[in-house]
Amino acid sequence: MARAGPFGPALTMHASPAPLSAWARNVAPSPTLAVDAKAKALQAAGEDVCGFAAGEPDFDTPEHIKEACAAALRAGKTKYAPTPGIEPLRQAIADRYAAEYGLRATPAQVIVSPGGKFSCYLGVLATCSPGDEVIVPAPYWVSYPEMVKLAGAVPRFVLADDRTGFRLTPAMVEAAITPRTRLLILNSPSNPTGAVYSRAELEAIVAVALRHNLYILSDEMYEHLVYDGVRPTCVATLAPEAAARTITVAGFSKTYAMTGWRIGTTLAPLPIAKAISELQSQMSSNVTTFAQFGALAALQQKEKTSAALATMLAAFDRRRRHLHAELNRIPGISCLLAEGAFYLFPNISRFGLSDLEFCNRLLEQEKVAAVPGSAFGAEGYLRLSYATSDEIIAKGVTRFARFCAGLRAA
Ligand SMILES: *Cc1c(COP(=O)(O)O)cnc(C)c1O
Repeated sequence: MARAGPFGPALTMHASPAPLSAWARNVAPSPTLAVDAKAKALQAAGEDVCGFAAGEPDFDTPEHIKEACAAALRAGKTKYAPTPGIEPLRQAIADRYAAEYGLRATPAQVIVSPGGKFSCYLGVLATCSPGDEVIVPAPYWVSYPEMVKLAGAVPRFVLADDRTGFRLTPAMVEAAITPRTRLLILNSPSNPTGAVYSRAELEAIVAVALRHNLYILSDEMYEHLVYDGVRPTCVATLAPEAAARTITVAGFSKTYAMTGWRIGTTLAPLPIAKAISELQSQMSSNVTTFAQFGALAALQQKEKTSAALATMLAAFDRRRRHLHAELNRIPGISCLLAEGAFYLFPNISRFGLSDLEFCNRLLEQEKVAAVPGSAFGAEGYLRLSYATSDEIIAKGVTRFARFCAGLRAA
């Protein structure tokens, strides 16, 4: 019963007669967070769950980064900061693009936003109007379709399955372009597949986009998480005109185990950078001021940061090879060895179950949490994150093999 307050009856959740907006009704909840929540609920109920669903590093943020943030907090860096970020951080981000990729950029082209997710959304909002089309390669990161729709634009999915290593060809991009196409989203290394495009492959795709005057949103969140001697490619460097059409998103979350800090970065041509800053000024203002000093330390104290990154990368690489080898030993499973991020994306279509059914039964029977490929626009696969301990990987993959053997016997 709703209790009466001083202004009439208190609101209850179910009593509201007002319909929600089209935005609220049409947005899909994040399926990756949903699986993770279900696994955590089982865990809280005392079940021994092996979680492969999480989309974040299992490491803690390196100590020197936390210390710089704590020092800034103690020094009173607790007020509003400029919307696009504190000046030394924007400078340090511009400097690192020059050092790592030879890309010349000014701090005015850099926007620091509350998380790379919001950086992507602002990039879409700054370039797309209602009715515009956006090419979204599938398997896609779960938020792209929703942020495109929230901008009033229309996602056009182009699926590249494991036969092309989850990588689009230029012809596939070309075939998806219409007069309404405004933006092409690229994400290499990829979440969910871990696939990394070669420089030559990206060059050919960028050439198609430039020929059709598209903008490119290049989500390079996993640029530093690459293995087997692979080098990441910064899409904005791929042609003289590419920098003028590309919005580069990156950040601190995945590289430095800083997911909870909420710091994303955008590098964009000046007019777009200004538009993004203005949108952000009305939607969220600056990233938490003292947190930005932690990010600054990550870029300035290079030796400590690269040592911490090297430790994490060595662990990810070991787990990646172990999980990959074990998965491919299971009859019915085939899995590519992804060269980036911290995900593998095995094909489970030979078992004759939908991926959703497969995941639900896997969680119920064996207490192994994975995300169905259909959450990423690719039915017949699973996303397994190896950002978890060697012990959980060993135990989880044993259970996984037992589950698959049971399905084959059935
Ligand atoms: C994690 C992730 C992001 C966003 O990261 P934030 O936590 O918002 O900084 C963006 N793109 C991809 C592909 C991701 O996996």
